[in-house]
Amino acid sequence: MIDLRSDTVTRPTTAMRKAMSEAEVGDDVYGEDPTVIRLQTIAAETLGTEAALFLPSGTQSNLCALLSHCERGDEYIVGQTAHTYMYEGGGAAVFGSIQPQPLDFMPDGSLDLAMVAAAIKPDDPHYARTRLLCLENTQGGKVLPLSYLVQAREFADKHGLGLHLDGARIFNASVKLGVPVTNISRHFDSVSVCLSKGLCAPVGSVLCGTGEIIGKARRWRKMLGGGMRQAGVLAAAGILSITEQVRYLQKDHDNAQLLAKALGDFPGLEIDQNAVQTNMVFARVKTGSRQALMQKMKSEGVMVSGARDTLRLVTHFDFNAEQIAPVAAAFSRAFESLN
Ligand SMILES: *Cc1c(COP(=O)(O)O)cnc(C)c1O
Repeated sequence: MIDLRSDTVTRPTTAMRKAMSEAEVGDDVYGEDPTVIRLQTIAAETLGTEAALFLPSGTQSNLCALLSHCERGDEYIVGQTAHTYMYEGGGAAVFGSIQPQPLDFMPDGSLDLAMVAAAIKPDDPHYARTRLLCLENTQGGKVLPLSYLVQAREFADKHGLGLHLDGARIFNASVKLGVPVTNISRHFDSVSVCLSKGLCAPVGSVLCGTGEIIGKARRWRKMLGGGMRQAGVLAAAGILSITEQVRYLQKDHDNAQLLAKALGDFPGLEIDQNAVQTNMVFARVKTGSRQALMQKMKSEGVMVSGARDTLRLVTHFDFNAEQIAPVAAAFSRAFESLN
């Protein structure tokens, strides 16, 4: 099976398994796990933030951030298809009584700041209190321009809003731009980073941010059941995500380009080659059922994901350039058998 559904399917590397087996551990709820402490120190240093917190998932990391920025009856402004709105089970509303104000993403993955300004509620008991602007980078594989981040920071300051980044794939963004990750992270009060996507850790995310936000997030993490004990066995892998795996993301981006080109000639697929910026390829299925094509592809040994009429193919550490031709061949056979 060639699995292109997501970069979450990556398995821990050999070096990670070794580091995990040898990790020095303690009780992290008591703040005594040296490996967790080391991961948090490395994460905070790498992103240039005051503090960092290790959490079991990106969902819990984003939720802890939202709960730390906002109180009951507050509101966060977020993209209509953002992970923090669409794909986290409405957790902010369920656990925090925090109201989302979703807005459509612009084609480049940003939120139009004039639209955000218009969505900020006046100080009036009719309305929720607008407290936070939440961005996503990468968004659908697209990288937010650095100039936009400067504008977003100025905007947030002007309107007295906190600024959170769902940076699940922030390292893909920094690699694409060829800049240190701090050039992105420095604009935000908090940034959530996934270690378990293209960076290969088996589980885990780090929330990086101001000492104030991370202090609050530590309390929320405990309440949400994310206080783990000898979590150093997991953090040991996460350390290698940051120190060893980032350098391989360029390979994933190169493979996404090659894959998009290899699939570009199929008359049944429409691929915007210019939209392939990092490790994701989106292919619109021009005729017939997207679900049927996915099913056929699976029987041909290639798994992809999809929504509406569009397939998503995500390149990752466990996928290599030699597998591109077999993927194209599987599409050939799938289209033949469907026609
Ligand atoms: C994967 C992902 C998350 C968090 O996911 P978990 O599966 O909970 O770790 C958050 N935001 C984005 C954009 C993601 O892709």
